[in-house]
Order: sequence, then C-alpha cells, then structure tokens
Amino acid sequence: MTSLHRPADPRSGLVISTHDLGRQQGRMMEVTRVADAPDELGNDVIGVPPGSPIALELRLESAGDGVLVTGSAEVEVSGECARCLTAISDRTELDVMELFLYPDSEADDEEASRLEGELIDLEPLIRDTVVLDLPFTPLCREDCAGLCPLCGQDLNAAPDHTHEDPVDPRLGALADWQPQTSSTEETSTPREQ
Ligand SMILES: [Zn+2]
Ligand SMILES: [Zn+2]
Repeated sequence: MTSLHRPADPRSGLVISTHDLGRQQGRMMEVTRVADAPDELGNDVIGVPPGSPIALELRLESAGDGVLVTGSAEVEVSGECARCLTAISDRTELDVMELFLYPDSEADDEEASRLEGELIDLEPLIRDTVVLDLPFTPLCREDCAGLCPLCGQDLNAAPDHTHEDPVDPRLGALADWQPQTSSTEETSTPREQ
C-alpha cells in the first residue's frame, strides 16, 4: 500500500529502538508511550488528525528471526457523518500484532516488515491498521436519519419533518400548471353539468 519508503526517523514516536532488547530469544520489553500522529492517516471522509496523540502500549519479544510486536494503539478519529454531515470525534483502540524480521534474516518474504538496523518503524503498520479499521461510510450513529433531500433539514432533530408544499421550483411550476388544465377541461365540457 505504501510503496514510498522513507528511512525510519529515530526522533519519531512511532520508531522504537530494540537496542535494549537484544536478540536472545524469549527476551521481552514493554513500551508505553504517546506518539504524534503522522500526516494523512485515514481516508477522505474520516481519519486521524495530524499531530494528535497515539497512545502505544506494546510488548516486544525476541522471536528467533525477528521481533514480535503485540499490543494496542489508541488513536483519535475525526471526520463527518456520511448522512447528516455532523462532525464525528472519537477514540478507537487498534490491535497491533506484527513480526518485524531482523535486517539480516534469511526469511524470503518481500512483504514482511523488517527492522532497520535496531529500529522498528511502526508507521507503515499503524497506517495499514488505521485504514483497515476506519469505516467507509462513517455515521454519527447507526440509525442516523440523515438530511431532508429537499431542504437539507437535519432529520435527526426533526423526525416528523415533511413537505406539504413542494419546495423544488420544478414541482412548484407543475402544481401551478395542473389547475389550469382542469379549468380548461371544465370550460370545454359545459354540457355535462
Ligand atoms: Zn449523522
Ligand atoms: Zn425538508
């Protein structure tokens, strides 16, 4: 998905050094930190605001061929309801589980995540996880009634909202035209009365 690859920036909160973990199999290290969200994390309608806090609670384990990262990342999500356009703001917890292979691992897997030196860059993983987690059509609530297609009234606020008189100018013109037709028919059939 992310073909453009930038080297891991050790200053980024999403980049974790495994220096203290070492490679001895079974060793474990816990990482609890808050990182800044990168730009463009999400899609057009909903996403994680750039710079918002990503709360990481991770466990890193040396696992022979690499480092197994498990835990959670809690992110802020903001966007707008696809039906009524109300702003949505929420926090969501993402499950994280990924094996990062050592740079010199002989595992022949092009798709696998790899350490860069001693660094684990979580950004591509967080990116993919967020995109998979976000709804395609975000809703303020599951049964959101949306907006009136005629006038844009929020139907959640006015559930009984209806239009007795058409608002659409084309429908208005049609309404004007109908009485004229019926009055013409009345004058053309005087003998029936
Ligand atoms: Zn809504
Ligand atoms: Zn309306």
